[in-house]
Amino acid sequence: MDGQSPSTGPFVNRPSMSDDKALLDADPDVLPELIGFARPRWRDDVPILWRDPTTIQLGDDVIVPRVGHDHVGWLARLDGLSTARAASADLPIPAAEARRLLRGLLAAGALDDAARIPDAVRWARAEDRDLVAGRFGAVLRSTRDLDAAYAVMSAREAARVVVLGREPVLAEAREAMSAAGLGAAASVREANVAVVAERGHPDVAALADHDLPDLPHLRIGVLGDRAVVGPIVVPGRTSCQRCAHLHRRDADPAWPLLAVQWAQATSALASPPLDPLLVRAACLQAALLLREWCEAPDAVTQWGNVAIEVALPRLQATRVGRPSHPLCGCLWAAA
Ligand SMILES: [Zn+2]
Repeated sequence: MDGQSPSTGPFVNRPSMSDDKALLDADPDVLPELIGFARPRWRDDVPILWRDPTTIQLGDDVIVPRVGHDHVGWLARLDGLSTARAASADLPIPAAEARRLLRGLLAAGALDDAARIPDAVRWARAEDRDLVAGRFGAVLRSTRDLDAAYAVMSAREAARVVVLGREPVLAEAREAMSAAGLGAAASVREANVAVVAERGHPDVAALADHDLPDLPHLRIGVLGDRAVVGPIVVPGRTSCQRCAHLHRRDADPAWPLLAVQWAQATSALASPPLDPLLVRAACLQAALLLREWCEAPDAVTQWGNVAIEVALPRLQATRVGRPSHPLCGCLWAAA
């Protein structure tokens, strides 16, 4: 397993340029694995661990056998201060060995470019910079691909989430969006997505889809032992809250009458039954779903037409299909 993860399969870690372009730009004095890097840097958040005197492990899962201190000494030269060309010159080990190590670093998501700083880090306030850099490290851990990591950071940063609704769900939802790294909007006008955080029957929305025309939105409804998150309603592309209402009416003809009464009964409650941990769990699920949407807006089959139900006592989160309803009309234009 030279430079490969034993468990997580092949990774694509080369910089984004296509192989053709890489060949065109190839500098014969630069190791092929370093092409596209201005100042390659081994990330110290993926430590080099010795498994035995000749085998290292990069982070949790990438094992590189047949190495000595010369190999590791050369890795330490990838400090982000030297160019790729300088790192490729005067190798203390054979070039094939250096390349084998670099493939291990790439597979572990342990190589980045000191000349390239994610915008989210570059523009962060000084006091937030370490936090944002840490977020980037975590994203790179999960993508194992520098370009994908930059794209994820930009997508989250580009979100403009406005959170509407009632306390205490409102404050918890704001916290969750911030923890998710999603950009915030101060008003509906500035937003590209709204989160409607309600304390009320999980299946009865106080705010209707037409209250937020043309704006993607996601509702969180929490009451008693159950919370429902979503679906994310993207007008013209996904099912909507009315679709769910119509499906429910098909299953129970009394539902429209019950829903009106539920709305009245819960809005008047001075202290509705709310478990703060359930509220928090629901808001975290909402943040996760919004991350999916903003990172891959075209992957409707992944994040669309689905709601997440969270239930006490164990806070299990279950994905529930939310198909469109043929009589709703929300997707007629798209069809
Ligand atoms: Zn609909």
